[in-house]
Amino acid sequence: MSKTVLITGSSRGIGLGVARRLKQNGYEIILHGKSQSDALKKAQDELNAKALIFDVANTDECKAVLEDYTNTNPALWGIVLNAGITCDNTFVALEENEWKNVIDVNLNSFYNVLKPLLMPIIRQKAGRIIVMSSVSGIIGNRGQSNYSASKAGLIGASKALAVELASRNITVNVVAPGLIDTELTNDKNLPIEEILKAIPARRSGSIDEVSGLVNFLLSNEASYITRQVIGVNGGLC
Ligand code: NDP
Repeated sequence: MSKTVLITGSSRGIGLGVARRLKQNGYEIILHGKSQSDALKKAQDELNAKALIFDVANTDECKAVLEDYTNTNPALWGIVLNAGITCDNTFVALEENEWKNVIDVNLNSFYNVLKPLLMPIIRQKAGRIIVMSSVSGIIGNRGQSNYSASKAGLIGASKALAVELASRNITVNVVAPGLIDTELTNDKNLPIEEILKAIPARRSGSIDEVSGLVNFLLSNEASYITRQVIGVNGGLC
């Protein structure tokens, strides 16, 4: 039987790239989006995959959808916690809702999504959890105090969980991309030329360059890698 992996935020961008890569490599994939968007439907058709719909920031919705999933399906092999947003502003201009939304979607989703899914994986005594952080959570980016806080928080939470789960043969690792070409970074307000100057490789990364690492971390070859933060950033760190 093939191994099943849930990828949150896989209607587009990095999550969809990860889903494509895993499907190619024989995994059973479960797609996910906040709503049943055209993009998600297209991804489902392309990959012939099921999708779960829930807002990762909504604890009750996550619990309802994911408990229903665990009650009717075998334990997952892997979870890729990828869904995330930005809402950039300098700290002095940052509104309360801009702070709270980013923390809710990016960081509180760690609790909301993993809590209902983890027990069956613990009983299975095998699995992989991969959390999508960002270089911003390591170095702190101007205009991203909310995003950097959320992504740094994910690193702490993942490392703690890795310690708790290591003896059960479950690894927990963090992927921290730098600038990757997606809709998230298509924002016309981003000072791309400035950012590129700070990247030793002098280019942005591709979705394939991130999904390759996720694919490796899910594999048997990565069974002794846990509690790690691995950058995909062209040397920006
Ligand atoms: P995109 O904006 O392209 O895609 C975001 C995905 O997250 C979509 O599938 C979206 O679903 C989902 N999502 C957003 N909010 C919610 C929510 N509240 N509930 C459920 N799903 C939600 O992002 P990227 O592919 O660029 O980024 C993916 C991850 O990688 C993020 O965590 C991001 O922080 C991280 N990252 C990205 C970098 C980059 O340069 N692109 C750099 C470093 C990290 P829907 O379509 O339904 O809205």
